[in-house]
Amino acid sequence: MNIFKFGGASVNSAEGVRNFVKIVQSYKDETIIVLSAMGKSTNALEEISHSFFSKNDNFNHKLHSLKEYHNNIVSDLFPNKEDVVYQKVEVIFNQLEAYLEKEPSLDYDFDYDQIVSFGELLSTTIVSEFLRLSGSPNKWVDIRTCLKTDNSYREGKVDWDLSQKLVSKTFSFNSTFVYVTQGFLGGTTTNLTTTLGREGSDYTAAILSYILDVDELSIWKDVPGIMNADPKWLDDAKKLDRISYQEAIELAFYGAKVIHPKTIQPIKQKKIPLQVRSFIDYNKNGTLISTASKKMENQLPVYIRKENQVLISIRPNNFSFILEENLSMLFSLFARHKVKVNLIQNSAISFSVCVDDLGSRLDTLLEEIAHDFEVKYNDALELITIRHHNQESVERMTKGKDILLEQRSRDTAQFVIA
Ligand code: ASP
Ligand code: MG
Repeated sequence: MNIFKFGGASVNSAEGVRNFVKIVQSYKDETIIVLSAMGKSTNALEEISHSFFSKNDNFNHKLHSLKEYHNNIVSDLFPNKEDVVYQKVEVIFNQLEAYLEKEPSLDYDFDYDQIVSFGELLSTTIVSEFLRLSGSPNKWVDIRTCLKTDNSYREGKVDWDLSQKLVSKTFSFNSTFVYVTQGFLGGTTTNLTTTLGREGSDYTAAILSYILDVDELSIWKDVPGIMNADPKWLDDAKKLDRISYQEAIELAFYGAKVIHPKTIQPIKQKKIPLQVRSFIDYNKNGTLISTASKKMENQLPVYIRKENQVLISIRPNNFSFILEENLSMLFSLFARHKVKVNLIQNSAISFSVCVDDLGSRLDTLLEEIAHDFEVKYNDALELITIRHHNQESVERMTKGKDILLEQRSRDTAQFVIA
């Protein structure tokens, strides 16, 4: 049994959906397809839910273009206007519209999940019907009925025990070879919709892989695999043929955007091989993520860049040292304001942290810190991380640059650059 996860870019047009079907039909195993919303639909729905909640903006034109976008794909794929898909898509849009006619709740995150989830409901419905039309019978599953989470809207925490039972029962392969289901979504025990966090479909695929103990998970992307740098940034970026789970976790931690950070842990525990591969060159091998082996030695340096960084220097304003009590208080402030720390350096009298520029959220945090400490900061910086650094790779990243802070360990070098 295999799981295939396809992202929104793979099914962002009728042509994309046809290409997707070609890939799926070239496999004969039992398969579960986990799908994201088409193209940039999640962004559009995010804007709609924001307008809906704040009541100060009319979202009708956004809703209209979202409808038009899906309807164009459907009418390209299904020449027979009597096909059931037309009715199914209309029902889904009617449900969305009915929700948007109501008064917003008092909880933005709750409304967000109820609205944004329509992207995946639409994509899976269209794709499942088109697979059927193309001669591949399949079963559409509403993942919210079996992937159960708590009610932390926008970052649902998985109830593993309950999901284990329900998922195993749902994906029994009793009467079908192929299932199509939504990534990113979950459901509470009271059947309200939750989401697992932006870009969470990879994580869904990993959860199902873990629970069902699948043979392999493939994540199909618009890049050849995991590269040693973002090819839009460094044009000589090369594909990594094999990496270990541990390395993949590290890369995601330092900010490589190829896979969602939570994805690796579940599949690592069950040693399920993960292929990250291209839906464009779908016959080529991608990157295999698996247990560590000899073959993975002599790795290329991997370059990861995070932009929009802020370097904050914090000193006690009463001539004292930076002590453990201060540090623990500072860290709890960062945690409370949900500001993720990307790099830390401390000395006797000062403490520096590099964080993402989160705009007003960061301003509020800095104001709070300034009650007890002297705070200085630099913004518009870059944080460059090099895994498996050598002299050449360090020179490449830092030559002629203004380095504000640097940190090196055996495997990793990091530079905060103006
Ligand atoms: N459609 C969701 C998003 O764009 C989930 C995903 O793509 O993984 O965040
Ligand atoms: Mg998406």
